[in-house]
Amino acid sequence: MFKKRIEALFRAVEIDTIYITSPENLQYYSGFTGGEAGLLLTREENLLFTDSRYLIQAAKEAPDFTVIDIAKERAEACLQKKSPDAVGYEESFMTAVAYTRLREKLPDYRLLPLSETILGLRAVKDETEQALTRRAETLADEAFTHVLPLVKPGVTERDIALELEWYMRKNGASAPSFPIICASGVRSAMPHGVATDKKLEIGDFVTMDFGCFLEGYASDMTRTVVVGRATDEQKRVYETVLSAQQAALSAICPGVTGKAVDEIARSIIANAGYGDYFGHALGHGTGLLIHERPVLSPKSEDVLVPGMLVTVEPGIYIENFGGVRIEDLVLVTEEGCENLTHSTKELLEL
Ligand code: ZN
Ligand code: ZN
Repeated sequence: MFKKRIEALFRAVEIDTIYITSPENLQYYSGFTGGEAGLLLTREENLLFTDSRYLIQAAKEAPDFTVIDIAKERAEACLQKKSPDAVGYEESFMTAVAYTRLREKLPDYRLLPLSETILGLRAVKDETEQALTRRAETLADEAFTHVLPLVKPGVTERDIALELEWYMRKNGASAPSFPIICASGVRSAMPHGVATDKKLEIGDFVTMDFGCFLEGYASDMTRTVVVGRATDEQKRVYETVLSAQQAALSAICPGVTGKAVDEIARSIIANAGYGDYFGHALGHGTGLLIHERPVLSPKSEDVLVPGMLVTVEPGIYIENFGGVRIEDLVLVTEEGCENLTHSTKELLEL
């Protein structure tokens, strides 16, 4: 698996040396989950540089790599001994300080930014990645079912967020895939309102956006419910978001651009008169990071292909009224897409 990924990377770039340092790519290319290391990939050998805290773990998790203690030798020193050429690095992860040090240590090397190339390669998931994501999303579904009885007047947003997180971690997740969003009442008009001590009240919309990391892979889903009975206006907003989401889901298939899918959802919301209240992108890929390629947005030229994972999450947010977002995570297939999220999308009045 790792060998295949490294070969694909070398096929995509015309250089002989690649230096990987971001936690997600350390895991993607070697299996090492410790987060702090450097991989030196060459056509002949694969080296993993780390410090004493991780030597045992690295040898276990990355058996295809020769593990080197940085107290004995660092990656830069290893490159200094070779004849200067080009080295690919991750510009979107490396700090300016680390870049400057690399530049100084390797004055005769050409430094080639590779972050975008790698993100493009990671966009299509293999079967292992798909299976882990499916399990991570199922865990989020189960957490939602688990938390519903708690959604009632007097319970705080924080209680709900903690219960979701506790459930997912108790059942195998290593962490939430981002700080859990639970926004109620007028706060639900904030698309990324993190949970506060506000208590739920009758009439509140409650938007819960959450997911977890399971063996490195992220899940992501959003549901919005109402405490007590929904008003006609709340129902209208909810139904609009739902039909926008369903239309976008039906449009997902290989060959379609992120822009085209976004446009389908956005036009339904605009035609219902809520065009000014949907500001963010329709969706994003997931994987080792919560936000990956492809992107579904008004500008996205990303073309969907089988094996991509992408969220579909339209929303309407009205200040002093509240907001609704509904988010599913889907896998692009040959025929269309497989929805990995199974929680009901009927408007729940709790
Ligand atoms: Zn989300
Ligand atoms: Zn999302």
